[in-house]
Amino acid sequence: MIDFSLTKEQQELVEKYKDFTNRVIIPVRDKYDESTEFPWEVIKKAYDEGLMNGPVAKKFGGQGFDVFTSCLASEETGAGCIGIGISMDANTLGLTPLIIGSSENQMKRIMGELTERKAVMAYCLTEPNAGSDVASISTTAIKKGDKYIINGHKRFITNAEVATYLTVFALADPERGARSLSAFIVPADAPGVKILPRMRKMGQRGSVQNEIIFTDVEIPAENIIGSEGYGFIFAMKTFDRTRTGVAALSLGAARSAYEISKDWAKNRKQFGKPISANQAIAFMLADMATKVELARLMTWKAAWYYDQGLKTPGKLSAMAKYYASDIAMEVTTDAVQIMGGDGYSKDFPVEKMMRDAKLCQIYEGTNQVQRLVISKAILK
Ligand SMILES: Cc1cc2nc3c(=O)[nH]c(=O)nc-3n(C[C@H](O)[C@H](O)[C@H](O)COP(=O)(O)OP(=O)(O)OC[C@H]3O[C@@H](n4cnc5c(N)ncnc54)[C@H](O)[C@@H]3O)c2cc1C
Repeated sequence: MIDFSLTKEQQELVEKYKDFTNRVIIPVRDKYDESTEFPWEVIKKAYDEGLMNGPVAKKFGGQGFDVFTSCLASEETGAGCIGIGISMDANTLGLTPLIIGSSENQMKRIMGELTERKAVMAYCLTEPNAGSDVASISTTAIKKGDKYIINGHKRFITNAEVATYLTVFALADPERGARSLSAFIVPADAPGVKILPRMRKMGQRGSVQNEIIFTDVEIPAENIIGSEGYGFIFAMKTFDRTRTGVAALSLGAARSAYEISKDWAKNRKQFGKPISANQAIAFMLADMATKVELARLMTWKAAWYYDQGLKTPGKLSAMAKYYASDIAMEVTTDAVQIMGGDGYSKDFPVEKMMRDAKLCQIYEGTNQVQRLVISKAILK
């Protein structure tokens, strides 16, 4: 049986995140787009209202969301501001390897501290020479007695400058290369962790990214997540979950841009009639509405498959991520077009949505990499 209706609890959750977006995120999104500061006031309020750490089990202080529920939440935050939404979701990204592979004690310790301090995590995979090609990572974590010593260089790390803990992927044995890739919990204030100045970027400026240099950073051996050699699996399993989240953020922005430009088209008059009375504009809106619906279907299906523990969640989350972010780029661009000069103006939100959408085609694996994942799955 197929049923597209949401349960009462899911509808209430959507309303809760929608209300938070309207009340807390939208009023400050331009401020953070201008300042490029980390939106601490939003994060603290999200903690106060119990809206952080969605996918973490309730017993650790999270909300116990499955992937589907996380997507419902991310669509709403993305509808307000993908940049601020990703600041919240990058915390989840940093936590996901722990959700997948940490011990109960590690989770208790980390979540205890995050909740107490209303703090965030960061996920540290990408390096200067290892972007799409994760297997080229060269950061090392060498075991010495009861410690690991970390050396290396990470780049484009969301939340880096504000994180309390970093989830760091490094080689435990450089001779074995990517087969020894492992994941570690690293306190961001450990001696030898150097966070470089914030990245200057086009969109999603309500989030922060930095390079990080690790020089002889010592962490207790017990800070490894799972065991040595599980890093690659944890990284890929993380993306199987979180790429649907990027799809949901993208979908939210596409939905908003479509709705704003539709209202505009119905009200803006040229040549004595609303511009929506021209078939050229009406058909653009029809295409935008259809793309938004299709992106939601794909996102929901990928999330549902993951939650049911069915096969090929990676293929479906890759499809959802690339489709939803591609259509977010198209729909936000069309929204700017429909609004003409006003669409291009910072007095209206669609130009920011267009800049923000671009990044969803790049992070958590570019959309070319998503097609690699899909083609490998369908051709094997
Ligand atoms: C703002 C921002 C936030 C980010 N946040 C994080 C984070 O929190 N944590 C983290 O670890 N990383 C993060 N990233 C890194 C992000 O995941 C990488 O930028 C992305 O995976 C691409 O890597 P790259 O930039 O090195 O591009 P490259 O890998 O150099 O790719 C350049 C181009 O070549 C294409 N390409 C590469 N290989 C192939 C191939 N085999 N076939 C076809 N095309 C190919 C790519 O699709 C792309 O178009 C972030 C990046 C940005 C910009």
